[in-house]
Amino acid sequence: MSTAYLNIGELTTWDEERPVQRDAGLVVSDGRVAWVGDSSATPAADDAVDLAGAAMIPGFVDSHTHLVFAGDRAAEFEARMAGQAYTAGGIRTTVTATRQASDEQLAGLVAARVAELRSQGTTTVEIKSGYGLDVEAEARSLRIAGQFTPETTFLGAHVVPTGWAADDYLALVTGPMLAACAPHARWVDVFCERGAFDADQARTVLRAGMDAGLEPRIHAGQLGFGPGVQLACELGAAAADHCTYLDAADVAALADTGVVAGLLPGVEFSTRHPYPDARRLLAAGVRVALATDCNPGTSYTSSMPFCIALAVRELGMTPLEALHAATQGGAWSLRRDDIGHLRPGARADLVVLNAPSHVHLSYRPGVPLVAGVYSTAR
Ligand SMILES: [Zn+2]
Repeated sequence: MSTAYLNIGELTTWDEERPVQRDAGLVVSDGRVAWVGDSSATPAADDAVDLAGAAMIPGFVDSHTHLVFAGDRAAEFEARMAGQAYTAGGIRTTVTATRQASDEQLAGLVAARVAELRSQGTTTVEIKSGYGLDVEAEARSLRIAGQFTPETTFLGAHVVPTGWAADDYLALVTGPMLAACAPHARWVDVFCERGAFDADQARTVLRAGMDAGLEPRIHAGQLGFGPGVQLACELGAAAADHCTYLDAADVAALADTGVVAGLLPGVEFSTRHPYPDARRLLAAGVRVALATDCNPGTSYTSSMPFCIALAVRELGMTPLEALHAATQGGAWSLRRDDIGHLRPGARADLVVLNAPSHVHLSYRPGVPLVAGVYSTAR
């Protein structure tokens, strides 16, 4: 089965020589991109779709979400907007609500959020646990996440739950909880931040996960300067996410090691914190990803277009840099070479915009520009 897409007004493939092409054609065969070139030269296929000048981009790769949760923290947001500061402890509010939800309720909530992000052009999503914080609730979160994506992340080390001493909880996370969760996870993550886990604790968590066959990623530099980025580089993590507070050595280490810096500007929007400095990272040659961090406390958005608009308006990225970070950058962050681009061989995760150019994603913020998502993703 093959389909030819004709008269693509602007096609973004991230091909090295022609990353963006005008008046392009693209052929999909058996779920993969088979051919890219000028529209007029497009080979025949079983089916043809005339895009009449619309733009086509790779599906967004949202490399950082916390979709498995129940409850609502609108009151906390309202208080923050009235001047109250954010602290990591708010996570515990969601833990209580998540533990109380039934399996069916929780799976239904995740399904609704996945449908929401797919309708906005996301074709690959990473989903973390981290609102269960006991052995069965964490394993359940990952089993549910695994119904929607292979990119599942064990985040038992999100925060120390109420009633636990940090050392005891760390032993649980790296022992029985890891054993129960590792079969359902690809990644291991830790919230390395004041009020959550320090460098030694975070290293213990990530090392234990790696010993269990999981690949490391980390939350670092969200609320202040800290050791998380250096730890990510030391351990060869795929990504260090947040990167709002970085010193010069952190930036140099990211550039040297190729650890992806995941920027999550929905957080700064929702907490009214200063935004990360994307220009400094790009200038240093750091690989940058853009993700939603969709969670009920600090960034309750599933919209990659919204994050692209923030990246352009507040992080100083060009519209093309922001699109790159939201697609190819996300694929780097998840160590995937079959997504995030539309070069021949890529998985045919195509997004058609109701617009002639990717620039409209940030030029017309809040407007539903995704006209169609063609994807084999589950
Ligand atoms: Zn997060």
